[in-house]
Amino acid sequence: TLTDRLSHLVKTMRGQARITESNVQDMLREVRMALLEADVALPVVRDFIARVKDKALGQEVVGSLNPGQVLVSIVQKELAATMGEGISDINLAAQPPAVILMAGLQGAGKTTTTAKLAKHLIERRKKKVLTVSADVYRPAAIEQLKTVTKQAGAEWFPSAPDQKPRDIALAALDHAKRHYFDVLLVDTAGRLAIDEALMAEIRELHATIHPVETLFVVDAMQGQDAVNTARAFKEALPLTGVVLTKLDGDSRGGAALSVRQVTGAPIKFAGVSEKIDGLEVFDAERHAGRVLGMGDIVALVEEVTKGVDIAAAQKLAEKVKSGSGFDLNDFLAQISQMKKMGGLGNLMDKLPTQMAAKAGQADLDRAERDMKRMEGILNAMTAKERRQPALLMDGKSKASRKRRIAAGAGVQIQEVNRLLNQFDQMQGMMKKMKGGGLMKMMKKLGG
Ligand code: GDP
Ligand code: MG
Repeated sequence: TLTDRLSHLVKTMRGQARITESNVQDMLREVRMALLEADVALPVVRDFIARVKDKALGQEVVGSLNPGQVLVSIVQKELAATMGEGISDINLAAQPPAVILMAGLQGAGKTTTTAKLAKHLIERRKKKVLTVSADVYRPAAIEQLKTVTKQAGAEWFPSAPDQKPRDIALAALDHAKRHYFDVLLVDTAGRLAIDEALMAEIRELHATIHPVETLFVVDAMQGQDAVNTARAFKEALPLTGVVLTKLDGDSRGGAALSVRQVTGAPIKFAGVSEKIDGLEVFDAERHAGRVLGMGDIVALVEEVTKGVDIAAAQKLAEKVKSGSGFDLNDFLAQISQMKKMGGLGNLMDKLPTQMAAKAGQADLDRAERDMKRMEGILNAMTAKERRQPALLMDGKSKASRKRRIAAGAGVQIQEVNRLLNQFDQMQGMMKKMKGGGLMKMMKKLGG
C-alpha cells in the first residue's frame, strides 16, 4: 500500500538535512501512483505533483523530523487544500425562498440528495423546505421525489410529465413565496451522457429561477470520467458547489480532486449511503487521508480517545512503571474499554480499507466472541484472584480454583489456561515497555 511504500521511503531518507531534487524524486513517484490508483485524472495529478515539488524543494528539515516525514505532511496539506479549505455549508443568503438547483447526470444521485439536503436543512438549519421535480421525462422520477421528500419531512410540490420544466419551477416558486417557505429545492432530469438539449434546458431553468446555489451532483464511482462531466456542467452553469455521492462504495474518492479542480467550486457534501440520513458535510482533510489510502485517521484517533479514560490509563502506566504489576483486574478493565469504544468492528470501520480487508468479517466476529468469553472468565474469578494472578498460576489450590472459574464461566479449563497464558505474555510486554511506551501512546492519542 502507499502507506507502506511511503514509510519505507521515509526510512531511507533519514539523516538528510533538506529536501533535494534527488531525494524527492522517488517519493513523488509513489504519490503519483497513489493518486492515479485513486482515479484522479492525469492532468490533475501532474498539476498537483508540480505544486508539491515547488513547495517541498529546499524545505529545511527541522527537529526530529526527516525529509520523508516533511514531504508526507506537505502532500497531505496540499491535497486537503486542493479539495477545499475548511468546511463550507449551504448558502441561503437570498430573499426567501432560497432556491437550490440540482444538476448532474442521470443516476448521479440528484433525487436522493435533494431529499437528504431537505432533511439537513430542516434539522440543522430549522428551515421550511419545499421540493419540486422538473424531471418530466420519467413519471417515476416525480413519484420518487415525492416518496423521499415525505421521508425527509419536507413538503413536495406536484408536477406532471406534460408540463415544461420552466413552468413547473415558476409555479413552485410562486407557491413557496405565498406559503413562506425558506428554501425551494429543484430536482432536474439527467441523461446518461452529456446532451446538448438537456444542457440548454437546465440553463433556461437557471435563468428563470435565479438559484442562490447550483449544486453539481456527481458519483464518486465515476472515476476518470468525472472530469469530462464536470467540465460540461461547468461550461453550462455557474456552479456554486459540488455534492460527491456514493462515497460509501469502494472508490478511493479521487474524483473529488478532479471535480474540484475543474469546476473551481467547493465540495459541500458527501453522500455516504442510500438512506435519507446518508449525507455528510464534506471534510477535505479527512478525505485527503482516504485518497492517499491512509484511512480516516482523524476519526480513528477521535474514537479511541473518546472511549479511553485517560486518567485510568495513566494510573495503569504508573503501576507498570513502579513495578507493582499489571494484574487481571487491569486486563478486565482493558476489555471493558474496548467495549466502550464500540468494539473491534467499529474501530475496524475507521481503518484504511486495505488494512480492514485483510482482517475479514469472520476474523472480526471470532475476535469479538473471544473477547466476550474472556470477560466471562475474568468475571468468574474473585477480586483477590484477579489481584494476585499467581494464585491461579502457581498457587497450591490453582487446580480447584481454575475448575471453579471454568464452571462459573461455562467454559472448558483449557480456555482458562489460554487466558492465563495470554495474560502472562502481556505482562511480559508491559514490563518491557516499562510504562513509557504506553504513556507515549496515550499522549499521542490525547493530542
Ligand atoms: P438521479 O438520477 O441523479 O436522481 O439519481 P438517484 O437519486 O435516483 O440515485 C440513483 C441511485 O443511486 C439510487 O439507487 C440511489 O439510491 C443511489 N444513491 C444515491 N446516493 C447514494 C449514496 O450516497 N450512496 C449509495 N450507496 N447510493 C446512492
Ligand atoms: Mg432523479
